[in-house]
Amino acid sequence: MAKTLITVAFGDGIGPEIMTATLRILEAAGAELDIETVEIGEKVYKRGIDNGMDPKAWDSVRRTRVLLKAPITTPQGGGYKSLNVTLRKALNLYANVRPTVAYSPFVETTHPKMDLVIIRENEEDLYAGIEHRQTQQVYQCLKLITQPGSERVIRYAFDYARANGRKKVTCFVKDNIMKFTDGLFHKEFERIAAEYPDLEHETMIVDIGAARLANTPERFDVVVMPNLYGDILSDVTAELSGSVGLAPSANIGDGFAMFEAIHGSAPDIAGQNIANPSGLLLAAVMMLIHIGQAAVAEKVHLAWLRTIEDGIHTRDIYREGSSKKLVGTDAFADAVIERL
Ligand code: NAD
Repeated sequence: MAKTLITVAFGDGIGPEIMTATLRILEAAGAELDIETVEIGEKVYKRGIDNGMDPKAWDSVRRTRVLLKAPITTPQGGGYKSLNVTLRKALNLYANVRPTVAYSPFVETTHPKMDLVIIRENEEDLYAGIEHRQTQQVYQCLKLITQPGSERVIRYAFDYARANGRKKVTCFVKDNIMKFTDGLFHKEFERIAAEYPDLEHETMIVDIGAARLANTPERFDVVVMPNLYGDILSDVTAELSGSVGLAPSANIGDGFAMFEAIHGSAPDIAGQNIANPSGLLLAAVMMLIHIGQAAVAEKVHLAWLRTIEDGIHTRDIYREGSSKKLVGTDAFADAVIERL
């Protein structure tokens, strides 16, 4: 099989540790990859590049069209742009696909039957970057929702549901208050749902939707929502499944795709070899499917499942009694490789 050229960024905090673990597993599994490594994030911000990514890194991503990215640390405060937001907008990555699955009884969760996918609109909403000072005491951030942006991600959600044997698509909005913006998203949802009579659909106001997602996540299947709600609620569902360290994401556009864990750079545990590499590894599995290496993806996924089922757990999911062995990042990767 011809090798696929991809761009890899090791990121900040726990990024280098979980990326090294992930790449070791991919190599051992026989993934056919030609890797271009780029530097992004903290070090690049410190060189004075305000979006955290230099021209060489942009060139690489534009050429390879696929980025496997570890989390980065976004400097707090004014003068810096979030690299994650910039990447999603510059590459037109309009759909952020975030599956959350319970691995019960192997990973402790109060919701053993949960198996849902949040599809988060990825370029608009309060993340469009329209934020400014109005007066000395007043700052404003504008919420942007467009018809084409809404249609694209909602259609993606229904197509995804159909292609993946899912039964229902739920939409979360707050259109009782934001009648024009979330109102437009809701209207597009109803219009597009009519084109998919084989799938159930429902809409919920995001407050009750969030409460139900937290209390009975097993009643959801595919859930599509504007950017901010999706960002917040996908962390909630990942944590409900056992750990924020378990959940992957695929950022999909028509020309480009970026794969990453949903969590951040976890500076509190960086450099200690204790981070769970699963979120990034499962994102790499989604990447392998995207680039046409489904057999390798399945091999990696099954080896990862066997590792989790054998009770070999990193600290975030380790529980006395149900887990068998507490391991660090490297040893977890070794255990997955042994099971390939
Ligand atoms: P975080 O997700 O980095 O960490 C939250 C908590 O979860 C921490 O206690 C951390 O130790 C734990 N955690 C996260 N990933 C883990 C893993 N793989 N294994 C075990 N435990 C894990 O969120 P934060 O602390 O709010 O953010 C830290 C930095 O990450 C910030 O600079 C933020 O901007 C950035 N961030 C980046 C991305 C990204 O690059 N996609 C996403 C979110 C946050």
